[in-house]
Amino acid sequence: MPETAIVTEQQPKLGEFGFAGDDHVVPFEVGPLDVRGRIVQLGPMLDQILGRHDYPEPVARLLAEASVLTVLLGTLLKFEGKFILQTRTDGPVDMLVVDFATPRALRAYARFDADRLAAAVAAGEASPKDLLGKGVLALTIDQGAHTQRYQGVVPLDGTSLEDVARVYFRQSEQIPTDVRLSVARMRLPGEGAGHEHWRAGGILAQFLPEAPERLRLADLPGGNGDDDEDDDPTDNAWQELLALFETIEPSELIDPTVGAERLLYRLFHEHGVRVFTGIPVADECSCSREKIRGILESFTAEEIVESTENGNIRVNCEFCSTEYLFDPTEFAKAE
Ligand SMILES: [Zn+2]
Repeated sequence: MPETAIVTEQQPKLGEFGFAGDDHVVPFEVGPLDVRGRIVQLGPMLDQILGRHDYPEPVARLLAEASVLTVLLGTLLKFEGKFILQTRTDGPVDMLVVDFATPRALRAYARFDADRLAAAVAAGEASPKDLLGKGVLALTIDQGAHTQRYQGVVPLDGTSLEDVARVYFRQSEQIPTDVRLSVARMRLPGEGAGHEHWRAGGILAQFLPEAPERLRLADLPGGNGDDDEDDDPTDNAWQELLALFETIEPSELIDPTVGAERLLYRLFHEHGVRVFTGIPVADECSCSREKIRGILESFTAEEIVESTENGNIRVNCEFCSTEYLFDPTEFAKAE
């Protein structure tokens, strides 16, 4: 993920031209290439999430990348449910959790060791791979009580989050998939140097031909490491998609003056691309006083005492930082 920073010449007003604009996932279809996909630019929503946590810059950048990937994958859910991305690794940032609840709610947080992070930054080892270190990334689909929870686990060992998506789809659905992600901070005209806004963009494409035998022909770079002995001819349509994705500049993915639709046009105008109405996503947390009360009610009397400080039980939501205060006497157990 190259570092990008852009300064726009003018305030973008893409909505005026019928563009979806920021924080909308735009599905698309390129019929002649048998490709379906989605593209998104995250703006104010991401800025709110990251601004609230006030993470150090490299941590925020990592969480932004995980967030845009989660939005692309989570909005693929066909039914009501949750899509959860979670890393467990041995680097300075040892955990990222991003979850998407249909139809639009995203929340995210990162856990990191401040000393190790500072040391890594000082040593010039603050790339996403360095910060995560080795471990696993789990992608979980939870569609409620009546369906089976699905979890795909991808090893993280110098793997980019873009690679993760390719491996995940190969493992879970055998669908050739390619992803591009980009993160940047942007300054708007008239704002001082301290006023930077986070942006992240991503595009995902999947090869979905009607004839199943063509799926097997598709070449899958960055796949799960299966070495195909024979060099099968690869599918030309999917090869063309991969070549087009190679041409995407990281700045195009996040530039609000390009916008999702204009980038799709740049990429696919020769083939013809069908663009669907954007689906809004939002910074929303599913925590509530009731849910936290439920957890506290399961505590033993001893745990309640341990959780009490200055006469109160104070619970902070890790995702949205909302603070909930409870009176411990509410949880007094009848002897
Ligand atoms: Zn919350």
